[in-house]
Amino acid sequence: MECLNKRLQVAGFLDNSLVNGEGLRSVLFVSGCRHKCPGCHNAAMQDFSYGDTVSLKEILGRIESNVPLIKGVTFSGGDPFEHAETLSELADSIKAMGLNIWCYSGYTYEEIVRSNDESKINLLNKIDVLVDGRFDSAQKEGAPKYAGSRNQRIIKLS
Ligand code: SF4
Repeated sequence: MECLNKRLQVAGFLDNSLVNGEGLRSVLFVSGCRHKCPGCHNAAMQDFSYGDTVSLKEILGRIESNVPLIKGVTFSGGDPFEHAETLSELADSIKAMGLNIWCYSGYTYEEIVRSNDESKINLLNKIDVLVDGRFDSAQKEGAPKYAGSRNQRIIKLS
């Protein structure tokens, strides 16, 4: 359980949300994003030092306090794939609670798969649904449910 002492830069946490994926979910917002999409809805969270440094153990305790009400956990930000190694470890513990995982990323599915970055691919393999791609304000109208713009896709991975 040594890994649970690992720490993550956290921008925010919602205990219950209905708009960040299917069903009632807790949402973890991590700090740091390199995509710089114009019109970003969470601009402050692009900063890698925004928010608080929190241990995985504390995050899991907060998630656990919402079980059995929630159906799953959503990783958002910021870009969760900038913290792929730590979030992979967190994902293992979340799955052990019987919860599913949605994850938002500015990277597309193809960019992650072709990155040859072992930790990013490892995280991809642990999430159930990926909402992918950068936010494009010109494609905001008619965006799929749970996405911010039409170019983003809701990809079921499991
Ligand atoms: S990927 Fe998301 S958090 Fe990152 S700049 Fe774009 S809209 Fe903002």
